[in-house]
Amino acid sequence: MNDVLEACLSPHVAAMRRDCRRLEWNVVRSGRVRVVVWTCSCRATVYELCASGGRAFIRRTVQAEPVAVICETPWGPPREAWEIWAALLAGRAR
Ligand SMILES: [Zn+2]
Repeated sequence: MNDVLEACLSPHVAAMRRDCRRLEWNVVRSGRVRVVVWTCSCRATVYELCASGGRAFIRRTVQAEPVAVICETPWGPPREAWEIWAALLAGRAR
């Protein structure tokens, strides 16, 4: 475990806290988005903060066989997406 962590450059989400907020996860919308920040891919579930056209959202990818399962939160103002991002990393939202 420690060997893996030492090789990780991106953050990991913390364990869910008791007051964890449940996010709304929807199907992926089409279109080009810019991935701004992301969590470490050593975990089965990877989160990305994506932006497009002045809006932002969180994309969740569960790495699974045969295909990854991808969902997104509703698109909204970047400020809201960053708040969700911080909560995700802290274990306060999932
Ligand atoms: Zn990692």
